[in-house]
Amino acid sequence: MLRSTLLRISENEWCNGKLPRYGVVKRAVRRFMPGETLDDALDAAERMERNGIPTLITCLGENVADEAEANAVADHYVAAAGTVAARGLDAELSVKPTHLGLDLGIAVAERTIRRVTEAAEAMGNWVWLDMEYSRYVDPTLELYRSIRADHTKFGICLQAYLYRTPADLESLIPLGPGIRLVKGAYAEPPDVAIPEKPAVDQAFFDLAVRMLADDAQQTGMRAGFATHDAALIRRIEAWALGKGLDPGAYECQMLYGIAQEEQKRLARQDKLVRVLISYGEHWFPWYVRRLAERPANLGFVLRSFLPRRPSRD
Ligand SMILES: Cc1cc2nc3c(=O)[nH]c(=O)nc-3n(C[C@H](O)[C@H](O)[C@H](O)COP(=O)(O)OP(=O)(O)OC[C@H]3O[C@@H](n4cnc5c(N)ncnc54)[C@H](O)[C@@H]3O)c2cc1C
Repeated sequence: MLRSTLLRISENEWCNGKLPRYGVVKRAVRRFMPGETLDDALDAAERMERNGIPTLITCLGENVADEAEANAVADHYVAAAGTVAARGLDAELSVKPTHLGLDLGIAVAERTIRRVTEAAEAMGNWVWLDMEYSRYVDPTLELYRSIRADHTKFGICLQAYLYRTPADLESLIPLGPGIRLVKGAYAEPPDVAIPEKPAVDQAFFDLAVRMLADDAQQTGMRAGFATHDAALIRRIEAWALGKGLDPGAYECQMLYGIAQEEQKRLARQDKLVRVLISYGEHWFPWYVRRLAERPANLGFVLRSFLPRRPSRD
């Protein structure tokens, strides 16, 4: 109930326009993003890398409504790819198709995303396509297939909560793709996405096992499991160990500021773990989706409305 209310707020235009202006809301988002600028994100990436954790970076924004804006977002990512390389960071790029113009047609998004993948690949870097609402899955897969034909350092996100995902995964495996598996973050109707959480967790596990099967691994695919669910990560680890898989067969991906102990545990055990750092001015819908994932996070927001206790110093 609270989750669906929050997801409705994330889509509400009035809330998107007004709420991010409040200082308390701005302060609360700091838990999940180090700052609004690329430099904020790369400074955080540098700190994470010192602790043995490479990163992904993403500039927040979605559903741009004119081509000039989509081009400006692509320009930003092209420049970001250069800055990442100049700073010698292992920070891959993660982009949202609608931020790069998918609402304006697949041709616009293909032009902008190609530009970003070309620039990143020239620097030896990867680009990942995020997956948004279910209505975007077909065009996002089409974009992926077309660009992947020319660029190998290119991955895509698949959402375990969608009934269609096992078939989408089967269709992608022969490409030797990069796949980031997630549970799924958007409000979707029950005939499109599995509504019960335990069933989504099981679907995630089954898809992970499929991604680690011999025939899938032999295609050279890169498997990323993006979850903070420690029990699920351990279940996959145990399965992979039982099968005698190399620890480098897959990597875990998590969000900045979430499950930090689990991030450190994986890094300490020399497992592959990568953390996604978000930045940018248009963080409100993304931030409310994070609250919806764990409504207990609302406590942080509500506490920040309370007056601060006087310091004892
Ligand atoms: C790197 C990365 C990329 C992603 N890309 C996409 C994408 O492109 N498309 C998409 O639909 N979704 C994406 N997601 C979001 C994903 O779909 C889930 O909504 C999100 O990861 C929460 O689910 P979970 O797998 O962590 O499991 P859950 O079962 O929701 O959570 C497991 C545990 O993790 C902790 N946790 C989870 N979320 C939070 C939070 N917000 N705050 C505090 N603790 C939390 C809690 O302890 C919780 O008990 C991405 C997630 C990651 C990590």
